[in-house]
Amino acid sequence: MAEQLPEKEKQEQDDILIQQEFQALLNDYRNSSHRKKVEIIEKAFHFANQAHKGIRRRSGEPYIMHPLAVARIIAKELGLGSTSICSALLHDVVEDTDYTVEDIENLFGKKIASIVDGLTKISGGIFATKESEQAENFRKLLLTMSEDIRVILIKIADRLHNMRTLSSMPAQKQYKIAGETQYIYAPLAHRLGLFAIKTELENLSFKYEHPETYKEIEKKLKETHAERKAIYIEFSEPIKEKLTSLHYQFEITTRTKSVFSIWNKMQTKNVPFKEVYDIMALRVVFDKGEISLQEEKEHCWLIYSAITSLYVPHPNRTRDWVTTPKANGYEALHITVMGPEGHWIEVQIRSKRMDEIAEKGLAAHWKYKDGKEESEDKESELDKWLKTIKELLENPEPNAIDFLDTFKLNLFASEIFVFTPKGEIKTLPQNATALDFAFYLHSDLGMHCIGAKVNHKLVPLSYTLKAGDQVEILTSRKQHPQPEWINYVTTARAKTKIRAVSKKEYRTFMRKGEKQIEDLLDKSGLVLEPDLEEQLMKQFNVTEKDDFYYKIGKGYISLEDVRKFIKSKTQSRFVKYWKLQFFNSNKKAEDKTPQKAGTLPDTKKVKLTENEVGTTYKIAECCNPIPGDDAIGFKNEDGTIVVHKRFCPVAVKLKSNFGDRIVSAEWATHKVLSFPAIIEVKGIDNVGVLSRIFKVISEEHSVNVHKVSMETNDGIFWGTITLYVHDVEDINNLCMNILKVPEVETVNRVDEQKMF
Ligand code: MN
Repeated sequence: MAEQLPEKEKQEQDDILIQQEFQALLNDYRNSSHRKKVEIIEKAFHFANQAHKGIRRRSGEPYIMHPLAVARIIAKELGLGSTSICSALLHDVVEDTDYTVEDIENLFGKKIASIVDGLTKISGGIFATKESEQAENFRKLLLTMSEDIRVILIKIADRLHNMRTLSSMPAQKQYKIAGETQYIYAPLAHRLGLFAIKTELENLSFKYEHPETYKEIEKKLKETHAERKAIYIEFSEPIKEKLTSLHYQFEITTRTKSVFSIWNKMQTKNVPFKEVYDIMALRVVFDKGEISLQEEKEHCWLIYSAITSLYVPHPNRTRDWVTTPKANGYEALHITVMGPEGHWIEVQIRSKRMDEIAEKGLAAHWKYKDGKEESEDKESELDKWLKTIKELLENPEPNAIDFLDTFKLNLFASEIFVFTPKGEIKTLPQNATALDFAFYLHSDLGMHCIGAKVNHKLVPLSYTLKAGDQVEILTSRKQHPQPEWINYVTTARAKTKIRAVSKKEYRTFMRKGEKQIEDLLDKSGLVLEPDLEEQLMKQFNVTEKDDFYYKIGKGYISLEDVRKFIKSKTQSRFVKYWKLQFFNSNKKAEDKTPQKAGTLPDTKKVKLTENEVGTTYKIAECCNPIPGDDAIGFKNEDGTIVVHKRFCPVAVKLKSNFGDRIVSAEWATHKVLSFPAIIEVKGIDNVGVLSRIFKVISEEHSVNVHKVSMETNDGIFWGTITLYVHDVEDINNLCMNILKVPEVETVNRVDEQKMF
């Protein structure tokens, strides 16, 4: 009996905790603008609480605290209503307890049941060991999302809470969850306009993927906090006075960039911490009550002019997302002005309505269509996007992996605006081509597109559109999609359409080729043996059997050449000998492959030490990481690790197909071996400038020049230098010193040698 008492006490304590959290949820809900359907929320809570009873999370707290926390994110941070709150409370019931979707439907109705069903279907996560499995998981996610956007919103909230509590997970799971978050959930949150959540997700996953770098930047942020604060007070006071004198109701807040975005900027711009100038931004949110969109816009520009009367704006850094909002719904006017002591400071001007959209995303303003009201609003951006996803999913057998790739690309890409001949604005991902635009307008236009007129000038299909272009698509009924079109487009929509058509074509020609070869062999009294097939493929430099026959069918490989080759082989009196040799040489090639390395312990983290380079791990040639670079490892089937830069496109692709094989990599100190690194130098071409650059390089003792490629044109020189260095520190020092040569404008490390 005595032993049961503490248990009972614990139970009581738990109940208090649970009740507190539930009351907090109800408070969040009551403070929102939604209809007050408290009853159904109470019912959902009691049901979930009872279903999860006695189960604890890894952290030790009662399980129900998790659905409660997710429901609070849904209510408070996303501003969604009772249906979503109930679904959030119930989101793990079907997955983790004996209750079924039917039970939920009987108690809470069809809508909530179908959302919970969707959440249960995608509860497994995205990353998988097998490529096909991972793509399938991803498809499932998109499918459920396109059925009801609330499924993905709750999933994102669920992921956010899991990320906030990730420290109680075992290290290996942490890495996988953080990777998935970075890979898919943060971009999705971004696409849905959930800016605050996207930032937090990115930051948290960075914290777990790169704990040391995270701590370092966090420390630097703390050290420089007081200094920044002083600058901002000095900077914002005159703005406050000015806006008050203009009778504005407003709030001014400062936002510090997240650790992740600071690091991201350091990496992409190749600058040290102290040169990331927009670490803090100032946000002005004004409240003019109920005013029209036009009036809101005018006030943004009035405030713009008030601020620029105090501070000088940067000429190229004004961003007007009021006139044309981003595709994810974001609206604001951004300017960067010269603040005290020569610091550039970003100011974001928003109305209260714009601020709400920026914080909670479009979904907060999204009307859920339960049947009747459908035709009421005109199609929103979100509607359009979901429609595109549905379309992509409906396409007959698109290659799942390619689909995933292109979809991902479209998630990340920023947008440009282009105009139709009638002056309508259309949003396309950056780098979209004229052909993409044709497919975007209508697949029929795409299929028959022969070219386009951009700003009244004729351009080819592959022309890359620029913001503000006016585009007219030219078509011909005689035109049909060509396989090479795939190289002219970047959007998922166009790619899927072209692939579906060219796949059909491909198969037709492949069969034709197969038939032609068969006939040819028939005539010489031979049969198609695998051996002969292999020799033919080798002779014509084709690695895939299907490709070989396709090329024959298409006439890319001439049948006459094939006939000659076969003849020469069969006529030889030493066919057998030749065969033998062929196999021998094959063996030899195999021997050259590196020995199987000692298998690594499966710890998801690999230490890159100097004496193991080339054995347990290899340096990827696509991005040439060197010690000190933020790197990840990709585990091959034989256990060897290939080390890539974290943002190497190849690594990103590997991650998208084999997320489970990515391991975290960490460099041990290196000061003996040298690694190749490439820098790109640009500047003004003056007599002797190159020799001055090489003098700097020769002074750096840890650096050896391997290859130089330079070009001059119109008084500008530009080129790349391949060097051998020990680590990132060496190369950074060198770049800094080269920059001191007066004629040099920029020095950057690049991934690969560019061709001129
Ligand atoms: Mn959950």
